[in-house]
Amino acid sequence: MTQRTDVVVIGGGQAGLAAGYHLRRLGIEHVILDAQTAPGGAWQHTWDSLHLFSPAQYSSLPGRLMPAQPGQTHPDARHVVEYLAEYEKRYELPVQRGVWVDAVHRDGTCLRVASDSGEWQARAVIGATGTWTRPFIPAVPGRREFSGRQLHTVQYKSPAEFAGLRVIVVGGGNSGAQIAADLASVAELTWVTRRPPRYLADDIDGRALFDAATARRQALDAGHGDTGGVASLGDIVAVPPVRSARDAGLLPAKPMFTRLTSTAVEWADGTLAEADAVVWCTGFRPALAHFASLRLRGTRGHIATVGTRTVDDPRIHLLGYGDWTGPASATLIGVGRPARDAAREIASLLSG
Ligand code: FAD
Repeated sequence: MTQRTDVVVIGGGQAGLAAGYHLRRLGIEHVILDAQTAPGGAWQHTWDSLHLFSPAQYSSLPGRLMPAQPGQTHPDARHVVEYLAEYEKRYELPVQRGVWVDAVHRDGTCLRVASDSGEWQARAVIGATGTWTRPFIPAVPGRREFSGRQLHTVQYKSPAEFAGLRVIVVGGGNSGAQIAADLASVAELTWVTRRPPRYLADDIDGRALFDAATARRQALDAGHGDTGGVASLGDIVAVPPVRSARDAGLLPAKPMFTRLTSTAVEWADGTLAEADAVVWCTGFRPALAHFASLRLRGTRGHIATVGTRTVDDPRIHLLGYGDWTGPASATLIGVGRPARDAAREIASLLSG
């Protein structure tokens, strides 16, 4: 049986909830379909020691300030999960859990959303599926020959299982720096980055990141030069554990190796470093496979958008994937504004 509603939001992490908040405020009937069986999106699955790079007050969704976590300036992932669970309850957001969306189809003037739990017909769809379900590992020569353990950020949980092992951590972003810091005192760590690590100033918080992303968007929209956004400030937020490890000299970084052998990595000068495990902290791609059948235009894995609206179909919005769907929209503080804009655009589409 096909169910009908005005808007289907695909994904019930922070982006899906922010969309629900604004749709609800505008009185638009909607449903939020989420593959997880519990609230919290990707925050449920991060490694144990992960802390936000911003204090609680700069990590809030629209309408409800994140409460501070007692004893922590930077809340941990568990605190974020609790906040998101409370948020969806507080605003009575219509989340249906354990629903995996396979595909979105055009169906006359409507869109048909096909899932493993049935079909929905809607007049608009918001994609808010994040990137966590699409980990990315670059094609490095010898990767398949390496007989040690290989894992991506999404599989890393805690340093305990790597105690005393020779571990190579690859990646100069926040995940790489935080996981390297986590492992530095228990494993024989080698941290590998494509370019020397670029730390943001120690006192930078989420507000500054949001402002930098917004200034970039405004400059681009006004036809001015690219300010560089957050990337112009650096790649790594020096959260307290990263700062301590860095200041203790535990985080030297080496340039990228050229290949893997069955037991080691090989450096550019031909020397080898034997390794038991490689942790790939090499990023993510947007989880957009369910839109494939619509053949929406785009480049490099992104679908072309104006703001959050897809260029090819004004009924489809994308939210939360990165700056290309709104300044800092892949952060807690940044997703509120594009969510509001998407809901407003959909409201005028539905009333037209
Ligand atoms: P998700 O949280 O991934 O939610 C998407 C939801 O959609 C998930 O529940 C998923 O299961 C579901 N889904 C996916 N595909 C389907 C489908 N086909 N059908 C149905 N459901 C589906 N941001 C900050 O603001 N502060 C930080 O300190 C911070 N630290 C970060 C640290 C790491 C390691 C990472 C990776 C990100 C961090 N971020 C941070 C960025 C961002 O806030 C998170 O990535 C956040 O989880 C993104 O929220 P989302 O709602 O877009 O995606």
